[in-house]
Amino acid sequence: MHSHVDLLILGGGCAGLSLASRLAEFGKDAPKVLIIEQRESYTNDRTWCFWDIEKPAYKSLTSHAWSKFEVANHPRSNVYNCSQYQYLMLESHHFYENALGLIRSNASIQLLLGQEVLSAPIKTEHGWYIKTGNLEFTAKQVLDTRPPKQVSHHYSVLWQSFVGYEIQTESDYFSPEQMVLMEFDHTFKSGLAFTYILPTTEKKALIEYTVFSENRMSEEDLMEGLKKSIGQHIAGSPYKILRVEHGILPMGNKLATQNNDSSYLFAGLFEGAARPSSGYAFQRIQSWANKCAHSMLANNTLYAFPKEKRLQSFMDGLFLNVIKKNPTIAASLFEDLFRRCNLKTVVKFMSDQASSSDCMQIIRALPPKPFIEALPRFIIQKISNRLRLTS
Ligand SMILES: Cc1cc2nc3c(=O)[nH]c(=O)nc-3n(C[C@H](O)[C@H](O)[C@H](O)COP(=O)(O)OP(=O)(O)OC[C@H]3O[C@@H](n4cnc5c(N)ncnc54)[C@H](O)[C@@H]3O)c2cc1C
Repeated sequence: MHSHVDLLILGGGCAGLSLASRLAEFGKDAPKVLIIEQRESYTNDRTWCFWDIEKPAYKSLTSHAWSKFEVANHPRSNVYNCSQYQYLMLESHHFYENALGLIRSNASIQLLLGQEVLSAPIKTEHGWYIKTGNLEFTAKQVLDTRPPKQVSHHYSVLWQSFVGYEIQTESDYFSPEQMVLMEFDHTFKSGLAFTYILPTTEKKALIEYTVFSENRMSEEDLMEGLKKSIGQHIAGSPYKILRVEHGILPMGNKLATQNNDSSYLFAGLFEGAARPSSGYAFQRIQSWANKCAHSMLANNTLYAFPKEKRLQSFMDGLFLNVIKKNPTIAASLFEDLFRRCNLKTVVKFMSDQASSSDCMQIIRALPPKPFIEALPRFIIQKISNRLRLTS
């Protein structure tokens, strides 16, 4: 079988399906698209959370909203009321079902499951050529959302590694209207560690143990911290594991993939989707997918992830350097951020919507000393990255 399409999307995860969904909505104006995805089927493999500010995409598919959240830096703990900007939870299976429905509704968009793309597409006179198993395709343009096979530790300033269990308990231990954004673990010394708790009923919660560190951490590395934290929250009582989530997200990419051909674009988590200071990517992917789909419709051009806003990028980069140099003070910096800033400012900052005056409020709320100390190293790192990219 050999077919020719306008756009080949490699990887049908969040970025690939988001773009395909937006294109499917164009009806008969949609380009001819083929998505090649290695998984055989979609499961509820992750939970996406984001703040309800400025009409977030997919709000209507969310299954839980929290009006309060806790930041605990023992022995202190603060609970914040976020009823105006609730924290929303989107279970990935709802997102996948929605995307598959949109794709099925438009004959121009095809999804091929269970096909692993093993080699890079080759540019020929007929466009990009690719072979998977016994299938061959050519395409005018390629969007590659596959994560890199090998990622060096140096790719990112820090890594956010986490493992979580969705658990069911026998007695009531949770409050479904209040989540725990960060509960810091001061016993962990090689980075910043905290527990994140998303309770959906009194007896059910997703509990994640997260570490920001220079090295990527495996599920096994994180398991002891997770089990200890669960034990503390449910007083050592028995629980049933309903689901496991694990992820390693880049925080502050140092090297963007270079490609001078505008008909081949890299996208997704490792190509600018992840917010450097938090690793959050879902809403950034939606904003990009929307712009990319409209760019395809208007002038048949793929749209790359936009560069970070300057001030936000400077703040994120410096913040990561402070955490990297001194992870033990990071917990109190997060604590100060929530305690001293207006909640709307922090939520806007975390959701990529901060104005310059919001950024200034955040700068004023944090102690200057660790940032001034980290500044020379941060500037040297920026210059050496720029030299590496231009050489
Ligand atoms: C468990 C977890 C929880 C997260 N929670 C949040 C959150 O709460 N909020 C937030 O904003 N962000 C969150 N993120 C970060 C981010 O939103 C997700 O990682 C998101 O899925 C990134 O989208 P993507 O398309 O880049 O990668 P993916 O969704 O991982 O898609 C990549 C796709 O490529 C496919 N693929 C890979 N190699 C090949 C190949 N050789 N051939 C064919 N197909 C291939 C994969 O099977 C996959 O489907 C989370 C990430 C994880 C892992």
